[in-house]
Amino acid sequence: MLNIVIFGGPGSGKGTQSVLIAEKFGLEHLSTGDLLRAEMAAGSELGKVVQSFIAQGNLVPDKWILNILSKTIDHIKDKKGVIFDGFPRTIAQAEALDEILSKRNQKLLLLLDLQVPDEVLQERMLFRSKTSGRTDDNPETIKKRIDVYHQLTAPVIEYYKNKGLYQAIKGNGSVEKIFAEISSCISAHQ
Ligand code: UDP
Ligand code: MG
Repeated sequence: MLNIVIFGGPGSGKGTQSVLIAEKFGLEHLSTGDLLRAEMAAGSELGKVVQSFIAQGNLVPDKWILNILSKTIDHIKDKKGVIFDGFPRTIAQAEALDEILSKRNQKLLLLLDLQVPDEVLQERMLFRSKTSGRTDDNPETIKKRIDVYHQLTAPVIEYYKNKGLYQAIKGNGSVEKIFAEISSCISAHQ
């Protein structure tokens, strides 16, 4: 199976690139952020629990993320693997992902880290805020999300470096150019 994590700060282009990767390689695009927003839009119990974390730019606690992920992962059919977008976001989640995959006799192929400077992340999210309708795309929450990324999520990089699964991708450029680099990287690891 072709299981890949796409990683990077908020606004680094994970979602955009995931759609392209999923299409080209026949993968399921599993975005925990999208799943959470769907729960909020549906007004479910889980949606109600997570909404204040998201609105404040904090991480949703691991147990809720793992709950939503395990609900979804076993329903995936006829795909060559999964592109995990926005997950894992903590070391504990990275450990949980190992367990989830090994229980299914699978493993991770690689983690692609979209490297984008903080100022660019900020600019992109402010631009996106004009049309995204997302409660967390406002200046204060954007800053918080970048801080949270550095504090809690960036340490995940070391975890995957130690496993030899880490691959840096320069995430500052055109969508097409970045996708071309990602594609050749995935093909080389297949
Ligand atoms: N979030 C989370 N865990 C996840 C995915 C999303 O806690 O696995 C929350 C978190 O509050 C984050 C928000 O949802 O700031 C938006 O995440 P998403 O990945 O959709 O957006 P990005 O930060 O990549 O723009
Ligand atoms: Mg996203």
